Amino acid sequence: MHEMSLAEGILQIVESQAAPSPKVHSVTLSVGELAGVELTSLKFCFDVVTRDTLAEGALLEIESVPGSAFCFDCLAQVPLSRRGEPCPKCGGYQLTVVGGDQMKVKSLEIE
Ligand SMILES: [Zn+2]
Repeated sequence: MHEMSLAEGILQIVESQAAPSPKVHSVTLSVGELAGVELTSLKFCFDVVTRDTLAEGALLEIESVPGSAFCFDCLAQVPLSRRGEPCPKCGGYQLTVVGGDQMKVKSLEIE
């Protein structure tokens, strides 16, 4: 499962950033609208992979980052909430995603 490997990646980052703190209270992620991450599934996987780690029981907070794309038809940067949707300005499909397609660990609250 895609989200399981993402959750494992998050845990690795959390463990390396939190050390030598014994406990992580919460993890804030920024997740792009276009990152293709199923958030409910990610939260579930996070709970699973953090069992018996310093992040066990940590709250996973998610900040959504709006998607944006560059349209080659109207030569403008436009908001895009889903891949495959047309340009909201001109209805064209010549779009290249330029933002909101990544996921990263933004901050940790540790003991
Ligand atoms: Zn356009």
